[in-house]
Amino acid sequence: MRYISTRGGAEPLSYCETLLEGLAPDGGLAVPEVMPQVDGETLERWRGLSYPDLATEVLGLFATDIPRDDLARMTAAAYADFPGDVVPLRSVGDVTLVGLSEGPTLAFKDMAMQFLGQVVEYALERTGDVLNVLGATSGDTGSAAEHALRGKERISVFMLSPQGRMSAFQRAQMFSLDDENVHNIAVDGVFDDCQNLVKQLAGDLDFKRAQRLGAVNSINLARITAQVVYYFWAWLRATDAGGWAEVSFTVPSGNFGNILSGFYARQMGLPVHRLVLATNENNVLDEFFRTGVYRPRAAAETLATSSPSMDISKASNLERFIFELLDRDAPRVAAAWRELDEQGFFDVASERPRFTEEFGIVSGSSTHADRLATIRDVHESTGELIDPHTADGVKVAREHVESGVPMLVLETAKPQKFAETIREAIGVEVEYSPELQAMLDAPQQVTELPDDAETLRRYIETHALR
Ligand SMILES: *Cc1c(COP(=O)(O)O)cnc(C)c1O
Repeated sequence: MRYISTRGGAEPLSYCETLLEGLAPDGGLAVPEVMPQVDGETLERWRGLSYPDLATEVLGLFATDIPRDDLARMTAAAYADFPGDVVPLRSVGDVTLVGLSEGPTLAFKDMAMQFLGQVVEYALERTGDVLNVLGATSGDTGSAAEHALRGKERISVFMLSPQGRMSAFQRAQMFSLDDENVHNIAVDGVFDDCQNLVKQLAGDLDFKRAQRLGAVNSINLARITAQVVYYFWAWLRATDAGGWAEVSFTVPSGNFGNILSGFYARQMGLPVHRLVLATNENNVLDEFFRTGVYRPRAAAETLATSSPSMDISKASNLERFIFELLDRDAPRVAAAWRELDEQGFFDVASERPRFTEEFGIVSGSSTHADRLATIRDVHESTGELIDPHTADGVKVAREHVESGVPMLVLETAKPQKFAETIREAIGVEVEYSPELQAMLDAPQQVTELPDDAETLRRYIETHALR
């Protein structure tokens, strides 16, 4: 299997070659040259597999340049520390939650990042290279990356975060790590300042090459493929053997990464009825799926909400959906993004009927008040606590439940990460396990730097692996 660019102007790459690529050289995103297909017989054969074994099967369709034994070793290592059967399903009233937040940082990003840590290390061992990961985070991505890459010999992590702007829990999750290869840098600025610093340094190609800089951000293809696995898993758990029943999924969305993986699973042949995209007040994607007009917002117009991991201005993975929508016609994709650059939006409203009829996608949005009401209602009726992002999902899912079609909602984080909103919703404090309490009380390490590219450059030159 080879990977081509959505804009058609780059040489095809193997799976391992895409791992450390950000954008393709033509500005597009890597996509499978042909979508692998899975038939009913194969699905039935997969029913009894453990999560790591299912991951080996599904990822094996994408990572054809990795020998099966190596892949099996990596999926086993990636999910070894997850409790129980890795991804538990539990019903809360009329919907079923798919538990994707059992990993070390209590958010679904661990599902992909833990595998990415394994496969990046593997690719570096094959080439004898080292990698310095440079990233910016407002919380979830940075901690998932650090927990996946900590202690790895060929990799170090430089993670920028806005000083004083993360929650106490997020700070503890990152800053309590004392691994030598993890560098937490608190920048005197906001998240956009952090991201601009990353862009400046990674945009300097000489510096990037000399310091062996790379990224593990949400457009990373290995992350997308690792997320495809749990859609298959959830379908296998929610349906009876031998049937060909359809289920629907609701996905709390930001950068369109998680739901894109569900879209890929459906394109591969998984019987999915609807993919329900849920946004918060930053509803650029809901607007797109309702109108066919994509109009990303400026960072300054992006609201800070109580489901902060969905506070995005533009959805970096949407281009991979548009590529399929435009029948894999790369010049048309390139033209849409040119329009976007020139006029601030593009319009594919003429294709809008296909969003649902052909691709199964519908959408909805949720507000702070909806979130609180949903957390409260689920707690009162079932005793279960859900986090604010999952609550956005449950709220929108309930508007799309159809009789005879199980509705699965992806649980993208645990409530312990968002204690303030839980308190506001139900008036109680969330309880922390002894391990989490120990993490919250542990000493913290962070380097404070000014919002200045030169200072950061020198810091990286001094501390980078080479
Ligand atoms: C990252 C994140 C999301 C959004 O996922 P995308 O792949 O960006 O759409 C939703 N909820 C939580 C808790 C997250 O961390």
